[in-house]
Amino acid sequence: MKNFDYIIAGGGCSGLSLAVRLLPYLKASNKRVLVVDKEVKKNNDRTWCFWEEHPDIFEPVVHRKWNHLSFSSTYTDLQLNIHPYSYKMIRGADFYKYASEQLANSSHITILVGDVERLFNDEEQAGLVIDGILYTADYVFSSIPKPQEKRPESYQYLLQHFQGWVIETESPIFDPESAKIMDFNTSQQHGTSFIYVLPLAANRALIEYTVFSEQLLAPETYTAALNQYISEQLIYENYKVVEQENGVIPMSDHPIQGKDGRIIYLGTAGGFTKGSTGYTFRFIQKHTAAIVERLQKYGDPYISATYSRRFNLYDGILLYLLNSGRISGEEIFSTMFKKNNAAQILKFLDNDTSFAEELLLFTTLQKKEFALAFVKRTLKLMKAGLF
Ligand SMILES: Cc1cc2nc3c(=O)[nH]c(=O)nc-3n(C[C@H](O)[C@H](O)[C@H](O)COP(=O)(O)OP(=O)(O)OC[C@H]3O[C@@H](n4cnc5c(N)ncnc54)[C@H](O)[C@@H]3O)c2cc1C
Repeated sequence: MKNFDYIIAGGGCSGLSLAVRLLPYLKASNKRVLVVDKEVKKNNDRTWCFWEEHPDIFEPVVHRKWNHLSFSSTYTDLQLNIHPYSYKMIRGADFYKYASEQLANSSHITILVGDVERLFNDEEQAGLVIDGILYTADYVFSSIPKPQEKRPESYQYLLQHFQGWVIETESPIFDPESAKIMDFNTSQQHGTSFIYVLPLAANRALIEYTVFSEQLLAPETYTAALNQYISEQLIYENYKVVEQENGVIPMSDHPIQGKDGRIIYLGTAGGFTKGSTGYTFRFIQKHTAAIVERLQKYGDPYISATYSRRFNLYDGILLYLLNSGRISGEEIFSTMFKKNNAAQILKFLDNDTSFAEELLLFTTLQKKEFALAFVKRTLKLMKAGLF
């Protein structure tokens, strides 16, 4: 048996974010942390995009940032002023390298590569087992994926799935100062579908085809959608694909248990993937920062409010509308971006708005459809004793 003060199980986005944030506290309190992952993370396995008002601890690895965004659909074309936010991109490979270097310089961190077989928890301590060896600590922070419990009679489940290409063009066709966060000028036959265009240089961009639906598509469908968008919307043929990313992010209003005694769940496993958008990176940063603040002040990691019933209901309403077919995702997002200040929408999607600000935003949307969805979702949850 080996004992540490804390164990971080899963060294991906949330595990490494927590470990890096903990460094000053570990030094000051002379505590020791074990960080375990089943693999050494080096590959550029994902790209994180997010918005934030102020630079945070991973600013040194921000690959690109944009202060101007645009939105397009068959209804509207908009230039979006997102001040005071910036929209940022971090490449997975840069994040893993930067975090690993920070951790390698600390005598308070032990890194272990191993497959966690099981987590355990009692009144005194928590721990995990790897290759039959027991590791214990005061608290375990785990981002290891948990099997998703499903209650389809009460909650909704969609997938956000995507394929992205970094393309290089022969001539300069992109404006590196402005990123397109949603372009609905792509077929809507598979569900709410849109394209991101994130220019990295005048001749280089990440183009990502994203679909919200229950089922994944055949691999050739993503390829065809990207080819079609580049030739018909960007009206360009001479390009090469230099990188590719694929991903699936769960979208649901099913609440996720954030802790189990001395085990605290982080990241997607802790419910920090926003149900209606799939955005997770900023929620992870806010959560891990709050854990460290709490440890510094009170010596335990128990954050009081990590789950907001109000925002979970909003996510449920949006998922209901996206799924019901009564109104398309394209119509919802077009109206939302056309009638509201973009920064206010980003604040809302960050779960940071006040109730008064939310009411103001809702009055600009398709009132009848949203009111009906609100009543249906609330009744369903009340009937199941969940609201
Ligand atoms: C391709 C892709 C792109 C995304 N893009 C964005 C984006 O642009 N913006 C955004 O906000 N969100 C995005 N997300 C969603 C979310 O931010 C990421 O999934 C993020 O990595 C979640 O962090 P995490 O710590 O919960 O999980 P992960 O980063 O996946 O970390 C979990 C870790 O646990 C390890 N692990 C698993 N099982 C075991 C085991 N048995 N033993 C030991 N270790 C184990 C894994 O190796 C992994 O390193 C994206 C997701 C994907 C898949």
